[in-house]
Amino acid sequence: KRHNIDFSKASFKDFETIPDFDIIQRAEIFTDFTQHMLDNGQMNFRFVTDGCGAVAEVISPYADSPRTCVSLVSNDYLNFTQHPKVKAAAIEGIEMYGTGAGASPLIGGHHTYHVQLEDKLSSFFGRPKGSSIVYTTGYTANSASLLALLKADDCAIVDMAVHASVYEGLLETNTKRFPHNSMVHLERALVDTQSKYATRLVIIDGVYSQDGDLAKLDEIYTLTKQYGAYLMVDDAHGIGVIGENGRGCIEHFGLLKQVDIISGTLSKAFGHIGGFIIASPELVNYLRHQSRQQVFSSTSTPASSGLLKAIDLIDEEPHWRTKLAENVRYYKQGLLDMKLNIGTTASPIIPIKIGDPHKTAEAARLLLDAGIYANCIVYPGVSRKDARIRTSLMATHTREHLDRALNAFEYVNSKLKIAKEN
Ligand code: PMP
Repeated sequence: KRHNIDFSKASFKDFETIPDFDIIQRAEIFTDFTQHMLDNGQMNFRFVTDGCGAVAEVISPYADSPRTCVSLVSNDYLNFTQHPKVKAAAIEGIEMYGTGAGASPLIGGHHTYHVQLEDKLSSFFGRPKGSSIVYTTGYTANSASLLALLKADDCAIVDMAVHASVYEGLLETNTKRFPHNSMVHLERALVDTQSKYATRLVIIDGVYSQDGDLAKLDEIYTLTKQYGAYLMVDDAHGIGVIGENGRGCIEHFGLLKQVDIISGTLSKAFGHIGGFIIASPELVNYLRHQSRQQVFSSTSTPASSGLLKAIDLIDEEPHWRTKLAENVRYYKQGLLDMKLNIGTTASPIIPIKIGDPHKTAEAARLLLDAGIYANCIVYPGVSRKDARIRTSLMATHTREHLDRALNAFEYVNSKLKIAKEN
């Protein structure tokens, strides 16, 4: 036996650092831990074999063969990964430029299709040419831009629930965290930090990725400006989906022109991979030269030409957004009728909050038995007593898919009593 660790009390978070062991031993212990979780039915990994659509072939570690499920895990909200026009544009890009970028942007890897994509993104947000820079992922758009922007004399003021990629970008600066969407605490942080730092940047998500709720953007903007700070909004889940014209949470609050820095992803509503920052042309120029990721790492491939079409489709085919909103309304009502706790969601991300992690893992398993694939989110994804089933909807879910999901939740509720009144 290679160690005496009692896995029954451990969680994934406890394995980030295990004292007194070297990295190889830590990896061995971690491997034993994941096996323990599997043996005890607590491992939630499922493998989807055929893409990210509304219906998916799913393999769980507890089954020998894949089964066809209604999938409630995809961020491909508008199903643009499958749109024939998007695919055709991606193929055209490959035909024209090949398959790779060949170098990092600053040293020969910034090509026509990057420029076209950046121009398209600038105009999508109603900003002048030069207001946009593309990163390899949404994750690096946050982490790499913040690492370049915020230094030892600066301070980030962040909503505690911001995405992990934001936190990674704050390693070289000072950070004050305020409780999720609490204006009292935000104001206190703004007062406390006044005249102490060269830059104060308030950073929030537009749509929060686990609760699906929106930032109180109007109030946050007003407070931020009242105290002379800057505002950055990561609207990874809102862009393409929220707002009358799909410009996201920032459009919803009427602040498209005002927000200092917008960050977004190309991997969700736009159906591809990549991320971007929208800011003043000067700030974008600064990032182009100062972001280590722009200097030392390649960005999008020519297949991202598909994005040029995907972005146009937000305006050309708004019915996808309308259909998604209808799906969200119907499904939410069905869950509320069962008195399930869906928190304060205002987006296609709809959590079914259960609390107890074991009950939540059991719920995910029962759902899979009923042909519904949904993620079980436990600590450290959310706090220890806040485990939930996380579901997200697509425009291509049919009424029949949604009814199957709702029936499955009814079945889970009858078995596990997860409704609020229990
Ligand atoms: N920000 C938020 C709020 C997210 O939820 C995600 C994706 N989970 C990202 C950024 C990162 O996006 P990407 O997958 O493009 O790296």
